[in-house]
Order: sequence, then structure tokens, then C-alpha cells
Amino acid sequence: MFFETYKSLNYDERSDGVVPYILLMHYTGMETMEAARERLCDLESKVSAHYLIDEDGSIYSLIPESKRAWHAGASYWHGDIDINSASIGIELVNKGHEFGYRAFPDAQMQSLLELSRKIMSSNNITHVLGHSDVAPERKADPGELFNWQWLAEQGIGIWPDPTDEEFEQAQKLSCNDYDVERLFTSFGYNPIAAYIDVVTAFHRHFYPEAFINGTEGQVCAQSMARLLSIIRQTR
Ligand SMILES: [Zn+2]
Repeated sequence: MFFETYKSLNYDERSDGVVPYILLMHYTGMETMEAARERLCDLESKVSAHYLIDEDGSIYSLIPESKRAWHAGASYWHGDIDINSASIGIELVNKGHEFGYRAFPDAQMQSLLELSRKIMSSNNITHVLGHSDVAPERKADPGELFNWQWLAEQGIGIWPDPTDEEFEQAQKLSCNDYDVERLFTSFGYNPIAAYIDVVTAFHRHFYPEAFINGTEGQVCAQSMARLLSIIRQTR
């Protein structure tokens, strides 16, 4: 794995005793890799991530994993609000929804896979999430074109595989908003985030087909079955 070290000083110490358990994926949402790398290393910007991966697969190490990089911002997962302390952050070069969102090339995904394996071999990572999962009202990255399914098939993160029982339960659930909201919260989403944003974030990660159907903000039996499956797998 090719690694180039670039120094970013946008970090501090992780909160007392916190060891990272989340691997957090982002896209840069900027026009070029150079612009993104410059911003992540610019003291004025106050943003950073541990790693940056270009579309050609080049990996830049910006901050030691032991330090707290500043990539999550105001975020929440399962009661935890200091997501920077709890995570290792990877930025993937992509223009994003604002400047021309496109699929992540194979070379980039391959490097991400190798890097993720390396990170997971030396840390106790239990959750692989997107920025939109921990900040559903503010963020859409890495977005619905990010291939979470492929990554899960390679052993990084999880992918829903609903059983018949879960499909049956989902049919009943999709009529009751209150129960559905509680399920999203029990998985980890922020209970005070707008419901439609949570649903959209869940779809971006676990049911990207909803974006093709134009139903990304609405739950359906299919998405509920997937949520039940994911909760079962994270128990
Ligand atoms: Zn992000």
C-alpha cells in the first residue's frame, strides 16, 4: 500500500480514555484533491482527517491515529457526541453533491479497503459509518454512490440480509411511525434529528435504491426489513 505522509496540525488529544471504535467515511466535496489536501492541512480551516484517498488510489496520511482529528463536527451516535474522539476519519476525494457527485473509482475503493483492513487490525473498530449517519441533518457524505455493500462483502462494516420474519415484522411496522423512530434510535441515530433526515441517511447507507426510486425520505417495508436486519447484526 502506497502511503505518503502530509502533516496536518488540525488535531488535539482524544478525550480521556476514549479509544476509537468508529471508522468514519467522508467525501471531500471539493473540486480537486489538491484543494482538499490543502484545506485539511490549513491551520485556519480547523478541519482534518486521519487519511485522504485520491481517486487514483493514492493514500495520504495526515494525522496519527492516536490523535483526535477534526472531521465529524457536531455529531451523534448512540449517545456519544464526541465522535472525533471516538473515531478514525477517512476522506475520499469526490466533488460531492455540490460540484459533481460521481461514483468512487475502483482504485480508490481498493485503497480504502486495504487501509480499512490495516486500521481495523490495530484498533477495536466496531462500527463503520458515514458522516451522514452521525450528522444526518447537516451531511450527505459519502453518499448514495458509495459502495457500502461491496465494502461489507470484503469484511468492512455490515450489510442487511433480512430474514422472512424480519420482512413480516417490517410489513406491520411501516404503519407505525413511533415504533420506527425508536428503531432508528436504538441502532444509533440521533433521536432529536429530523425524522426525514434520519430516514434519508439510513437509505444512503443501507438502501441506496431508494434514491433511484425517488423515495429516499420515506420508509417502506424493504427499508424497515433492512433496518431490523442491521440491528440484529449489531447486537
Ligand atoms: Zn464529511
